[in-house]
Amino acid sequence: MADKDLLTEEQEQQVISAIQKAENKSSGEIRVHIEEECESDALERAAQVFHDLGMDQTQRQNGVLIYIASEDHKAAVYAGKGIHTEVEEGFWSDVLDILIRHFKEDAYEEGIEKAVYKVGEKLVELFPHKKGDIDELSNEISYRDSNNS
Ligand code: CA
Ligand code: CA
Repeated sequence: MADKDLLTEEQEQQVISAIQKAENKSSGEIRVHIEEECESDALERAAQVFHDLGMDQTQRQNGVLIYIASEDHKAAVYAGKGIHTEVEEGFWSDVLDILIRHFKEDAYEEGIEKAVYKVGEKLVELFPHKKGDIDELSNEISYRDSNNS
């Protein structure tokens, strides 16, 4: 399955809209990155993508990346320094479980959307929206094929 085909155009819009909704209520930034293959550990790769996307440059270090390698059936959730240790134990693995559980049923969009909502609720709790918050990072899904990674 090619990574771009993981979600239909419509499903992609649903994910983007879920990200927008979460970010409307929080200063946090959520991004979804989808690629085909992941030869290394998913979390290590997610950390690299987090950096590549400039997610370590947000003012409050409260970016959260949902990383998916579609062909290798791997996923990871990587969070910035400002939020990573602020959540209760098990939170990140719960988010990952949501993704994996839905992916096993080929319900990619549903899994991503639910994970975005769960992360979004936490961002609202820890980083409520303040006047002057801006959209620091694009809400579009980021794609990369295996040829240029
Ligand atoms: Ca923001
Ligand atoms: Ca954003």
